[in-house]
Amino acid sequence: MKINRHYLSLEESYLFSEIAHRVSRYTQEHPEADVIRMGIGDVTLPLCEAAVKALHDAADDQAKKETFHGYGPEQGYDFVREAVRDYYASFGVAVDAADIFVGDGAKSDVGNILDLFDEDNTVLIPDPVYPVYRDTNLMAGRRIVYLDANRENGFLPMPNPEQKADIIYLCSPNNPTGAVYSRDQLTEWVRYANAQGAVLLFDAAYEAFVQDPALPRSIFEIEGARSCAIEFCSLSKTAGFTGMRCGYTVIPGSLTRGGASLRAMWLRRQTTKFNGASYPVQRAAAAVFSPEGLEGCRKNLAVYRENALLISNTLRDLGIWHVGGVNSPYIWMQCPNGMSSWDFFDLLLEKAHIVGTPGSGFGKNGEGFFRLTAFGSPEATREAMERLRALLA
Ligand code: PLP
Repeated sequence: MKINRHYLSLEESYLFSEIAHRVSRYTQEHPEADVIRMGIGDVTLPLCEAAVKALHDAADDQAKKETFHGYGPEQGYDFVREAVRDYYASFGVAVDAADIFVGDGAKSDVGNILDLFDEDNTVLIPDPVYPVYRDTNLMAGRRIVYLDANRENGFLPMPNPEQKADIIYLCSPNNPTGAVYSRDQLTEWVRYANAQGAVLLFDAAYEAFVQDPALPRSIFEIEGARSCAIEFCSLSKTAGFTGMRCGYTVIPGSLTRGGASLRAMWLRRQTTKFNGASYPVQRAAAAVFSPEGLEGCRKNLAVYRENALLISNTLRDLGIWHVGGVNSPYIWMQCPNGMSSWDFFDLLLEKAHIVGTPGSGFGKNGEGFFRLTAFGSPEATREAMERLRALLA
């Protein structure tokens, strides 16, 4: 038998284990240090009340013969797909419920979508990047062309019409950089994808953080996207569902490649390999999109937004170049005094007891940059920013 040899060429996912190792070594040597963690991308606030009530009610449904639910539809219950459709409509995007697939989170769908595509495709991936895009393609042995995101382009790389591409990944608002594409920029990407006959995989996991109405929250706000784009979204950050596991993927019925409907292929893939997100989780997901649910999520998001703004304002006062933090929970800062990402990590840990994420862990263009996240408590974020001022002023 032959294994998938491409796994052997994957690099160890060293970033978060190395962070954990350095933090644990430091806290063992300095048990008195009050370490503030601003490196993780996980949320910290609980679910909104509407989602919790729906979970309880769904548990009760499962306790009675008359309301018990076994296997559900692989594409997701209609009550979630219709709620997602109405959510899109609330910011002016018309999406057909038939195009919406409910899953157990954006990470799975972003990885699994590759089942639809040949291995002999050229993939365009920004650097720095959410590592899932890169590693899932390396696992299949696909050719990757990296797009340079850097300070010069505001970490928003644009297409080069000469560059051939079959599969394109974009994430906006971006993880790790927090940068957000404008409508004009996404229009250029959609034109490029259509001209190439490529498929644009658009990760909108952080769309709920977009506040500026001029900035797109969905690729389907862009003309021409329905003939080239697939959108992935998640309730993880919108509604604190990281531990619940629910997301949705939108594949327009009009999107075809090689004479085949990608929506029909994905339905075939899901009905073969997936049995749906759990009934209680889907009930909770639908409740997130109810007026009470959206209000509860809005309150939580406001807390993270406040944190993000405080971080961004602190860096501005300190004269440190950064992106993100306004329409995004991530803040991507240049390390001061030309320091490397890991040197700055050590400095922050040792002198301010703050943990962040070295940008170099997201790709070569991340070297010299650093990611801070707004998912901590307001108190911890305030304290961390005071320490940062004291350290860098
Ligand atoms: N996409 C991006 C850009 C992310 O940062 C994350 C989570 O960190 C995900 C997708 C995964 O989302 P989910 O929790 O729905 O799997």
